[in-house]
Amino acid sequence: MLDTLAIPTQTTTASRLAELDTNNLEFGKHFSDHMFVVDYKNGEWQNPQILPYGDFTVSPANSALHYGQAIFEGLKAYKNEQGDITLFRPYDNIARMNASADRMCMPAVPEELFIQGLKQLVRLDAAWVPNAPNTSLYIRPFMFATDGMLGVRPSDTYRFAIITCPVGAFFGKPLRVRFEEKYVRSAEGGAGYAKNAGNYGAALYPTKLAQDAGYHQLLWTDASQHRFIEESGTMNVAFILDGKLVTPALSTSILDGITRRSVLQLARDWGMPVEERKVAAAEVLEALQNGTLAEAFGIGTAVTISPITVIGHQDQDYSLPELKPDSFAQRVLQALNDIRLGVAPDAHNWVVSV
Ligand code: PMP
Repeated sequence: MLDTLAIPTQTTTASRLAELDTNNLEFGKHFSDHMFVVDYKNGEWQNPQILPYGDFTVSPANSALHYGQAIFEGLKAYKNEQGDITLFRPYDNIARMNASADRMCMPAVPEELFIQGLKQLVRLDAAWVPNAPNTSLYIRPFMFATDGMLGVRPSDTYRFAIITCPVGAFFGKPLRVRFEEKYVRSAEGGAGYAKNAGNYGAALYPTKLAQDAGYHQLLWTDASQHRFIEESGTMNVAFILDGKLVTPALSTSILDGITRRSVLQLARDWGMPVEERKVAAAEVLEALQNGTLAEAFGIGTAVTISPITVIGHQDQDYSLPELKPDSFAQRVLQALNDIRLGVAPDAHNWVVSV
């Protein structure tokens, strides 16, 4: 059984840990000493290994580079004051990764291979998991095609790997976003619900235009009419409208965020009305103007809960009310942190010890 499988490990002889400035953890820049790597060949996953973090060699004809068979995930590990390390909902990540793999004609990664690789990697690099407030170890599982052959067809071979990096707050400040009414991230029937690399590459240009205009992110709207809100950057979005938690319903064009699921569950646990439905941009703007929109925030692993302070629409900026200390965004962020750090009961079994 894989639970007892010790993944062959080659430890580094040149740890970079001493160079890490834990007061300055820029997102995605500092990688822990080791990585987990496993290859898919002849129809099966073979040769799982933990290796010193380092470069891969790929063929110039690598089919992921040419045709985009590449998917990824994102989750975090947290360390509490006692030094215990927990993973947040990793089984949800492997399930979503395998849904992405299916959409991209890539092989599924067995759940236990993923979990054991992840646990052993995080245990080995335990010293890299920071424990100051708002810090965590960001974990990036990913898979890409490795056939070195030109031809638009699914690759026969793949590599799955996990790398990790200690991180602080992602944005660290309230967000300015604007409605995107020209470009599209994904359409119904597309691959927006999958975490394939191409979704992110295609979003760079419209996002850059918004950033050049002084916003942090876009608020994507639906591809056919640009009327309904979808999500934002690497976040789902939600609103407190008339005392209810309102968020766009999932579809094939929206990523089913694990933080979103957790936030909706906590709101329901607290007896708060929750609506997952179509949310029109016009409804949000109207609510902003008539004072019924109390909060808007982005939700995601990297960003956690990021309050939105400004929403731009057609050259006009609309400011949201100041967040009160007892805002839903603050309370749900605190509740999630407490569950992750073992301070509050984990009623839904979200937390997995490493
Ligand atoms: N939407 C998109 C497009 C994303 O990339 C992410 C980040 N994975 C999310 C939403 C939030 O998902 P999660 O809460 O699982 O991080």
